Amino acid sequence: MNAFPRFVLHNEILSKISTPSRNYAYFLSSNHRRKYCAVTLSLSTKPAEETLVVVGGGAAGMYGAIRAKTVAPDLNVFVIEKGKPLSKVRISGGGRCNVTNGYCVDNVILAGNYPRGNKELRGSFFNMHGPTDTMSWFSDRGVQLKTEVDGRVFPISNSSSTIIDCLMSEAKNRGVVLQTGKAVTSVSTTACGKFSIKIEKRTVNYVEYIEANYVMIATGSSEQGYKLAAQLGHSIVKPVPSLFTFKIDDFQLVELSGVTFPKVRAKLKLETVQKSIPEYTQVGPMLVTHWGFSGPVILRLSAWGARELSDSDYKGSLVVDFVPDLHIEDVKAFLVQHKNKFAKQRVINSFPSELGLVKRFWRYILEYEDLVGDLLWASISNNLLIAIASRLKNCCFRVKGKGQFKDEFVTAGGVPLSEISLNTMQSRVKSHLFFAGEVLNVDGVTGGFNFQNAWSGGYIAGTSIGNLTTTAYLKEEAA
Ligand SMILES: Cc1cc2nc3c(=O)[nH]c(=O)nc-3n(C[C@H](O)[C@H](O)[C@H](O)COP(=O)(O)OP(=O)(O)OC[C@H]3O[C@@H](n4cnc5c(N)ncnc54)[C@H](O)[C@@H]3O)c2cc1C
Repeated sequence: MNAFPRFVLHNEILSKISTPSRNYAYFLSSNHRRKYCAVTLSLSTKPAEETLVVVGGGAAGMYGAIRAKTVAPDLNVFVIEKGKPLSKVRISGGGRCNVTNGYCVDNVILAGNYPRGNKELRGSFFNMHGPTDTMSWFSDRGVQLKTEVDGRVFPISNSSSTIIDCLMSEAKNRGVVLQTGKAVTSVSTTACGKFSIKIEKRTVNYVEYIEANYVMIATGSSEQGYKLAAQLGHSIVKPVPSLFTFKIDDFQLVELSGVTFPKVRAKLKLETVQKSIPEYTQVGPMLVTHWGFSGPVILRLSAWGARELSDSDYKGSLVVDFVPDLHIEDVKAFLVQHKNKFAKQRVINSFPSELGLVKRFWRYILEYEDLVGDLLWASISNNLLIAIASRLKNCCFRVKGKGQFKDEFVTAGGVPLSEISLNTMQSRVKSHLFFAGEVLNVDGVTGGFNFQNAWSGGYIAGTSIGNLTTTAYLKEEAA
């Protein structure tokens, strides 16, 4: 108390948080805001006893906490979570949790799935803990995984609770202390170089402080997390949404709702104030929804164009090639052949099978060309056939806004990667401060890449902290 003579303590609550190891950390807290001081006391006889506070009990925070406690069992590890732990894991992948991606073993190809981070993540990041390490981590702990044809990895149970149960029991067994319903509202550094962490409960007028040697910020896309990073000297790249569907200005699309195209080539052109208009092209499956387009090709375009789409208020044009494997001359040839062969059939009832189209979409194309009614193939001029071929190869749509993809979404932006060391996840701005997960300016396309970023970052940060504290013990013992 004498060390803090200016503070008066009222209604102090002294709470001892024990860990399975011999360490104890003490919180002093008060129901009276401000008239309060808190200190972290250590009753351990071991002078080198150290504390890590992980802010955020999501994928990155829990994985990082477990790893730190595994490397350094004597380290006090607290996870402070403002809501429920692993809540995004629970809802992820439509409740199935797409844990990682099993097809990307090459780091350069793997990094290519991260619109923000694709250059930086090519190096050591995934070597230290990549998708195969993640799969081993879970399977070593009894979680059976399966890889689907597109590379997405899920628990065999098809339930995200399998992943949650595994992480929660591992955290408990290792002695990670999880405190939920409490938010870290500020972090500052003390005169002796530690972190002073202010923790508040939303529901009651309650504040507590804890001192820590290490802090890992794993707050996902929370505004509060960015504020903490900024308080500690970091800059923030403006957060914008990524992974969303496109609203398309075309009322006739409603009739196509539910139609899937196994392979299209889609080019997105955006309307920004910049002189050079950004363009992104993706090839893959596309789905028509009630309001526009969805499916892997659209989600990938939304991710690569996330920043410019935000700048253009989600307005732009989308040029879709519905027959990407055919040259336009071949498309024309198939149409001419069909006309010659089925001259007496109604246009609306038949079309060349080589185009691989569904009937509903063929009708949609015909309506665009005003070829309605009972027209026979014989009455279609060659110019009209050329127009149909052009439309199939270059069908232009107006993007008028962004829709929601419920299975996965993510935020682009956050703490710039240039401000941390990816070998350790330690801040280049403040020593002993670490980051992991979505709080960083890293985001992946859909397919398990976002969780992989969280697992890799958490693992590397946890390892670095564990090694630092182990080194600290060794130094202490050697002295
Ligand atoms: C609906 C949905 C489905 C998804 N599905 C998939 C999928 O199948 N596969 C995939 O790879 N990715 C998926 N994602 C993306 C993935 O969930 C995120 O990329 C991942 O959860 C990021 O992990 P994180 O630990 O960095 O952040 P989060 O999981 O967001 O965890 C951050 C935690 O920090 C807490 N927190 C924030 N601020 C504070 C504070 N000040 N004090 C205390 N606690 C704080 C939050 O409450 C939260 O629990 C999905 C996302 C959504 C929204």
